Amino acid sequence: MKIKVRIPSPLRRFTGHNNQVEVEAGTVNQALHRVVEKYPDLGKQIFDETDSLRNFVKVFLDQQDIGSLSGLETPLDKANEIRIVPAIAGGEDAPPRLTPSELSRYSRHIMLPEIGMEGQQKLKSARVLVVGAGGLGSPLCLYLAAAGVGTIGVVDHDLVEDSNLQRQVLFTVQDIGQSKAVCAAEHLQQLNPHIRIESFETALTSENALEIIRHFDLVIDGTDNFPTRYLVNDACVLLKKPNIYGSIFRFEGQATLFNHGDGPCYRCMYPEPPPPGLVPSCAEGGVLGILPAMIASIQCTEAIKIIAGIGETLSGRLILYDALAMSFHEVAIRRDPHCCLCGDNPTVTELVDYHQFCGINANAASDNIEELSPEQLKQRLDTQENLLLIDVRELYEREICAIDGSEHIPLGIILEDSPELAKNQPLVFYCKSGVRSAQACTRYEQLGYEAVFNLKGGILAWADVIDPELAKY
Ligand SMILES: [Zn+2]
Repeated sequence: MKIKVRIPSPLRRFTGHNNQVEVEAGTVNQALHRVVEKYPDLGKQIFDETDSLRNFVKVFLDQQDIGSLSGLETPLDKANEIRIVPAIAGGEDAPPRLTPSELSRYSRHIMLPEIGMEGQQKLKSARVLVVGAGGLGSPLCLYLAAAGVGTIGVVDHDLVEDSNLQRQVLFTVQDIGQSKAVCAAEHLQQLNPHIRIESFETALTSENALEIIRHFDLVIDGTDNFPTRYLVNDACVLLKKPNIYGSIFRFEGQATLFNHGDGPCYRCMYPEPPPPGLVPSCAEGGVLGILPAMIASIQCTEAIKIIAGIGETLSGRLILYDALAMSFHEVAIRRDPHCCLCGDNPTVTELVDYHQFCGINANAASDNIEELSPEQLKQRLDTQENLLLIDVRELYEREICAIDGSEHIPLGIILEDSPELAKNQPLVFYCKSGVRSAQACTRYEQLGYEAVFNLKGGILAWADVIDPELAKY
């Protein structure tokens, strides 16, 4: 029969912070061993070398001490739950004390009976990793810091751009051009000096993910691309960490909790990513600035609930939010026993190359493209070389500034129609900073054009070095 095994808070770090595990068993002994099969690290905590219960662990079947029944061999019959109750001595695992200024700062939390002093102390000792300090990451970090989560990790390799400020409320105009991870740490520390921020100024990769995530209790996924999403998911499953998922696009968002209890992982829901280019990114498709706040708010609420051990989690439930309709829908999602990662016979047992898995050749785009510095381009233009300079930005950008003598073909048209260009002259593409024009270069190289160049740093670099009169945006 199925029975719930309740895990007390001191032991939850061995169960990926699950507070209960449901197993199929006939006796108390079988039930506890099923749980240990799932969470091997728990084994040493409750059983000794002879497989007997440790002296400082008590087990109750419903309200009764199994010592007063038939011990571990007690049949489960119609019992509802098994509760493991270890002796709690304090010492190393004693919750951190709150200082007077923390007590005052968190008083509106502490007066909630569901959180109280104990919950606030749990928040203080919690370690939460936010992957991506962008649209979702900004409100996530702000609210985690304000809530008093004691250690917040922030992973992001990007720099703050002006187009981020429409939704990434963690940053200000002064941060433009600076590292998001570093700026995030500064601002969060100003918001709450009682917490620790660990910033990782790097992209999360298959090489560093396990090492970074290992030190956190739970992970919140604020990423904006499929390779990192699968990477976060897989690393969390391998390390048995809950993964709070959120995604945003245009006016719609999704949120759920993966890899928690008997719930599914991201691969149970989407075993394979969509082909590259099918689902546009926010940079291509746009996103309503306020949208990430709604989804991040759901994610952050889940984090606080998991840490405090209160409420019903989103595990097994996917929230679908539509801002235009202002509607929330909930659909049930299940763990897939055939899942290649968290299923009964997993075939994925280590991290893989996620760019390859998602069909994206990560390095091809930047490694093979020949770049011209602004000086090199200027020299070529001055010698009146017969080159074709193509601006791939949007019309509104071109109205702000443009390099004299350039043609205009927006990136969307290049990627969709790839108009034929003269094959006997070099092509030089430029955009604002060099990222979109690199895509244009890749496209024309694929079409067999031989002399294709990207203006390094885009028109911003051109304005800095060659033409300071040009309006920057
Ligand atoms: Zn799965």
